[in-house]
Amino acid sequence: MKRIIIRCANCQYSEEYTYPLVTCPACGGTYMEADYELDEPLPWPAALKNRPDTMWRYRELLPIRDDANILTMGEGGTPLLRSENLAAMLGLRHLYIKDERQGPTGSFKDRQASLAISTMREIGVKEAVVASTGNVAIAYAAYAARAKIKMWVFTISSVPVEKMREVTIYGAELVKVTGTYDQAKQVASHFADSKGLFLDRGIKSLAAKESMKTMAFEIAAQLAEIYGPTSKDIPWRAPDWYIQSVSGGLGPVGLMKGFRELEQFALCQGFPKLANIQSSGCDPMVRAFKAGQEEAPPFLKPSTRIATVATDVPGIAYTILRKEVLEHGGIFESVPDEESFQALKTIAQLEGLSVEPATALAFAGLFKMVRQKMIDPDEIVVLNCSGHTFPVEKHILGEELIRDLDVASVTQPAIPHEGLLTALETVDRRVGRVVVIEDDPGASKLMARILRAHGVRDVYLAPDGEAGIEMVQSVRPDIIVLDLMMPGMDGFGVLDELKSDETLRDVPVVIVTAKDLTTDERARLAGQVQGLLQKGSLIEDDVLKELIDKTLG
Ligand SMILES: *Cc1c(COP(=O)(O)O)cnc(C)c1O
Ligand SMILES: [Zn+2]
Repeated sequence: MKRIIIRCANCQYSEEYTYPLVTCPACGGTYMEADYELDEPLPWPAALKNRPDTMWRYRELLPIRDDANILTMGEGGTPLLRSENLAAMLGLRHLYIKDERQGPTGSFKDRQASLAISTMREIGVKEAVVASTGNVAIAYAAYAARAKIKMWVFTISSVPVEKMREVTIYGAELVKVTGTYDQAKQVASHFADSKGLFLDRGIKSLAAKESMKTMAFEIAAQLAEIYGPTSKDIPWRAPDWYIQSVSGGLGPVGLMKGFRELEQFALCQGFPKLANIQSSGCDPMVRAFKAGQEEAPPFLKPSTRIATVATDVPGIAYTILRKEVLEHGGIFESVPDEESFQALKTIAQLEGLSVEPATALAFAGLFKMVRQKMIDPDEIVVLNCSGHTFPVEKHILGEELIRDLDVASVTQPAIPHEGLLTALETVDRRVGRVVVIEDDPGASKLMARILRAHGVRDVYLAPDGEAGIEMVQSVRPDIIVLDLMMPGMDGFGVLDELKSDETLRDVPVVIVTAKDLTTDERARLAGQVQGLLQKGSLIEDDVLKELIDKTLG
């Protein structure tokens, strides 16, 4: 059995954990820590072998009281990849990449989401609010969907639309705040207060710190497999460096707590030096550290195009990380966005890893550290490969390498912006047969579910344009749902084919698209299609939502 103690970091008030306390009842402090008291010795590493390789194999030191409340999708347990090519290029002998892209939603926020949503389930939360620069939103939305918890997500407008689509596809409510991330957090907090909803408090919540520490456990165990134990009595091993791109600082704060606990339980000794890498377009921690400040002033007018790392007010995370760096060594360093985009291609080509720009920032930081000879070639370096690129951030990675994403200038489509159901209704009351031409299996599955729930008898799914045309020819559907962006023949190509065949010309087409259409594209569609459904369209279609709610029961 374990006893979880919640303790105020300010005055050391403590009590047994039953609920994630927001403020300390003794001093009003807002930073609570979790401690663990075990009846028996911690059964690691021996017991771990027989447990699934997720972060929950470390459950003795995670703040869930009843294991039945654990909500897992296979988060954690990510590989520690040894770099050969990049390491050779940089002249490092022991460079490792902790591949956190392999989480269920593609970033290391899955650890946090798994613990946070499990906690909500344990304390009976049915509806919750979170602010995010993107990946927390996606991860929480996914886990909340499984837990049947309604999630309100507040994010900033620089988050790529593909990520917003990802959030909404799970059924979360998404609110885009035009402002800085700190403002988005304030709006979220007011909203939660006004509706009496549970608010996830980021770095101040137990879930963030406690989940991230499982990275330390994994890294220490993985390094021991490669290099052997620290000593006869200390089975695991700490790296010399931990490199991460840092926004809110949850990762390194949690990681260091992990190493502290490993030392407490005599599993590992020593701490990595932290390399906290920020974008020079938003680097409040770097500036504060270099100026010798104990607290980081807000970063005015963030200009980074990498939304994930746009935390402008780092708050207590900086103070904690500064202490860690002063005590155990390490650096705060910034690199420009452009170096991150460059690094992104380099590591994709050298290591076969496609990462999001926020992650590439850490690699760019590593390059800078090597240039400045901060790393000894014999040191063991672990870099957090924090997130996968969805096909996201085309504004950065596409042909338009230097285009800024100016949210204010995104124009509204001229074609009536309709939901799928509205489109269905204008077409016919009784749609029996629909062909969905869509290359993304998740999206087409969702579409099929919605259509069936709406009384469509037969839904046929075609994974690309060519197959779609063939299917339309043989099935003769009442309506066609068509994705615009597909490899091979895209939606425009399909539409051209359909319109050139007089037996198919009059079958109504509803376009589904994830991108904003250009004027040209809109002109091409005008008069040709019955409806346009923006994949990322945010909580407009109440009917649709209700339907999904009903479908999921
Ligand atoms: C959240 C996030 C970061 C920054 O992490 P923090 O530890 O919270 O600063 C970096 N990269 C990716 C992909 C992220 O999702
Ligand atoms: Zn206190």
